[in-house]
Amino acid sequence: MSSRRDVVVIGAGIAGLACAHRLHREGVDVEVIEGGDRVGGSLRSERIDGHVVDLGPQTVMSRDPELFGQLTELGLDDALTVAGSGGKKRFIVVDGRPVALPGGPVSLLTTRSLTWRGKLRLLKEPLAPPGPGGDESADAFVRRRLGPEVAERMLDPFVSGVHAGDPDTLSMRAAFPSLLEAERAHGSLARWALDRFHEGIRQRKRAKAEGRPSPKRGRTPSRLFSFSEGLEMWPRALARALGSDRVRTGTRATMIQPGAQGGWVVGVGNDVITAESVVLAVPAPAAAELVDGISTGGARVLRDVPYSPVTTVHLTYPRNAVPHRLDGFGMLIPSRERRPVLGILWISSLFPGRASSDVVQTTSFVGGARFPELAGLPESELVDLVHGEHARILGAAAEPGLRYVARWTHAIPRMEFGHVDRLATLERMERLNPGIHLAGSYAGSGPSVPACWARGRGVAERILETRAAPTTRRETPR
Ligand SMILES: Cc1cc2nc3c(=O)[nH]c(=O)nc-3n(C[C@H](O)[C@H](O)[C@H](O)COP(=O)(O)OP(=O)(O)OC[C@H]3O[C@@H](n4cnc5c(N)ncnc54)[C@H](O)[C@@H]3O)c2cc1C
Repeated sequence: MSSRRDVVVIGAGIAGLACAHRLHREGVDVEVIEGGDRVGGSLRSERIDGHVVDLGPQTVMSRDPELFGQLTELGLDDALTVAGSGGKKRFIVVDGRPVALPGGPVSLLTTRSLTWRGKLRLLKEPLAPPGPGGDESADAFVRRRLGPEVAERMLDPFVSGVHAGDPDTLSMRAAFPSLLEAERAHGSLARWALDRFHEGIRQRKRAKAEGRPSPKRGRTPSRLFSFSEGLEMWPRALARALGSDRVRTGTRATMIQPGAQGGWVVGVGNDVITAESVVLAVPAPAAAELVDGISTGGARVLRDVPYSPVTTVHLTYPRNAVPHRLDGFGMLIPSRERRPVLGILWISSLFPGRASSDVVQTTSFVGGARFPELAGLPESELVDLVHGEHARILGAAAEPGLRYVARWTHAIPRMEFGHVDRLATLERMERLNPGIHLAGSYAGSGPSVPACWARGRGVAERILETRAAPTTRRETPR
């Protein structure tokens, strides 16, 4: 069967749905094609033995008023669960024990997460030598500016736990461009922070003198959230708003070809859909297969984007069997501790409504660039391994109740050296093939859920602009 749409979006993760929803609201005829049997991609939530379990991302952090506006519009306000103040307290493991990370500049001097030698080195940051020019690894940058302890105890677990990556190969230009710019413009991160602080004071004084509200008051604070039935409620609500005739699940897109009269033809199972624009909101390997017939160079670059597998292991324990108070977000584990788990999040502390007060629920991360082979262990071995870490680090003295394992083979793209050049090649491919848009998590400013949501919306804005410009509309020179 063949049909025609204005836009086809391939992939019903948060990026694809955000893109389609924005277009649909502007009256664009859009269809979303999803290979899996449900929408949401990595945002996947299950109710298991009475517990709400998020199998992929656990929390979303945002201060974007547009994002919260959309949640309101989708009717999700009542389901929104914002993490309590405990969410602000984060731990790392030092010598086998969870140690709270400093919450601000003053607690940097009192924290047990750094030795006195590490703190003194940190104070010398303004004297650190400038970078080598060009790209630098995150590890080299932090070692150079903040010292080896901050690199090993803070950066390393952050990169492993959040990016599933390796600080030795993570590109500063790709992953933390604003820090590079801060160093370039201010000569030091400490001077940059001080300059920002003074600028804030100046702005508030100016606002006061002119009788305007203080700029800080108008800024929405960041919120760390999920939903009562888990994060998947968000993509499900987006799909509902689009309507069932615009979201097709259980069918993969298999090819994209130039249309005979302009536009693009997308193969979907036994059907073909002709569209002016096609949005590829899928991981890089899937995008590579789809663009192979359009741009072999683009396909090669997409195949080269490195990913690590991550497995999440979800456990519960009776509250009285875990002596640690679990009074925070959870703990990340630096490589130097030589432990098999990347981090353990204390879900029942973050979202107390998720579990009854006599039970604690945790999510642990295994694999990443540090231990990719461990992500593929059999389920029972993974549960034993993770339970062992709960027993040794947190003192868990009972067998876990709930045990659930979820595997992500292409969890998070690693923004390694060469990523910025890769993106430049992909942008060139998009320019040469008007109407083809890449919205995968490798293509934007980062892999977080809000960044992917924003990327999807950004692509929608670009399509809306093109449609509004009469000269370029419906022309597809290649
Ligand atoms: C274990 C894990 C933990 C994470 N933790 C966090 C966190 O705590 N906070 C945070 O902000 N971010 C986190 N992330 C990152 C974040 O979840 C993802 O980067 C983001 O959700 C990706 O969204 P997406 O829409 O780009 O892609 P995806 O969610 O990957 O969706 C892509 C969709 O495309 C479909 N698809 C693929 N090929 C085809 C095809 N040919 N035809 C049709 N459909 C196709 C797939 O089935 C999938 O549904 C985590 C990710 C993982 C895996």
